[in-house]
Amino acid sequence: MSIIRRITHFDGTRAARRPRDRVENVRAAAQDFRREMLAGKPVPYYRSMELVRVPYPARYGYLNGFGRLAPYIHLCNRLFVVQFRSAEGLKTLLVSPSDWEHQRATPFFKRLTDSMGPFAGVGEALVFKKTSTVLQRLAEIGLAPEDVDYITYDHLHTQNLTRWLGGNGHKAIFPNAKLLVMREEWESAHALIPWQNQWYCPGGLDGIPQDRVILLDHDVMLGEGVALIRTKGHTEGNHSIVVHTPEGLKVTSENGVSLDAYAPQHSSIPGLAEYARATGAEVVLNGNTLEYGVDQYISMVQEKAIAGPWPRDERLPNIAPSSESAGYWLFPRTAPTFTVGDLHFGRLQTPVRHQAAA
Ligand SMILES: [Zn+2]
Repeated sequence: MSIIRRITHFDGTRAARRPRDRVENVRAAAQDFRREMLAGKPVPYYRSMELVRVPYPARYGYLNGFGRLAPYIHLCNRLFVVQFRSAEGLKTLLVSPSDWEHQRATPFFKRLTDSMGPFAGVGEALVFKKTSTVLQRLAEIGLAPEDVDYITYDHLHTQNLTRWLGGNGHKAIFPNAKLLVMREEWESAHALIPWQNQWYCPGGLDGIPQDRVILLDHDVMLGEGVALIRTKGHTEGNHSIVVHTPEGLKVTSENGVSLDAYAPQHSSIPGLAEYARATGAEVVLNGNTLEYGVDQYISMVQEKAIAGPWPRDERLPNIAPSSESAGYWLFPRTAPTFTVGDLHFGRLQTPVRHQAAA
């Protein structure tokens, strides 16, 4: 386990009785953590690629902050491929590899499609934009499935991991990959209450061998340049993926759906700046299940403080949402003011194991 090292910066920062004290304790710890992480080296490879765009209720995406707009926003799900150095050589991590072709049983999406009735085919083609699959993306960049060492998701909403890791009778497509997941998220996803289960894919974790799962109880550093930081709120076991890139620390989760959500005071999306001004809110939550609202607010402040300023516009934080809201003609006036889009730093390297076998 030498690749995975515990981080203690945030231990105890949420113990204060007063929420505002918690916010400031977390913010201070995040600034320390940021300095320390930036003192190390960036990862050699980081790339994010669009997979699919799906409709998502605007009232959840910008909880409480959304004024008089279309009922849906369009969320762009991305796959992130990261390579990092470690004591055991170069490792390859996939962040948020959504097997979206096999997640349609997720009750929310199933109901949405069913509600289109006889127009489901046309309706689906209109509102679900299928750009690419995980396997197509890996083939495009020249990464073999056996070269994936780890996969992780900031949370498990809608995910079906059975093809990737070999559950439900599937042979594992990623024969060497292990899932990195917070213990709360893993346990929670196995016994959900109706408040939560509309967003999880039924059977999505069934039969996954235990030795393919690394349950995390703490914030951790993976080798050099990657950290998984617990940022609960959107779900019970939500975490953020922090990667040291040539463009600073990129922080990824789904606590917010766009940079606008992390800097609402600068947003031109109707309602957001007004909401931020009227309430003093520093962030706008992505709250479909609202598992821990106060914690989610604190977590988003934490993410911003770790990320620091975005080099392209320093008024905004250096966040790369795992699902980023994108403009769409069917959902007018929902386009975010600031878009991160696909990112690409460095060159993919063929892992040593693969070279030795060739
Ligand atoms: Zn979610």
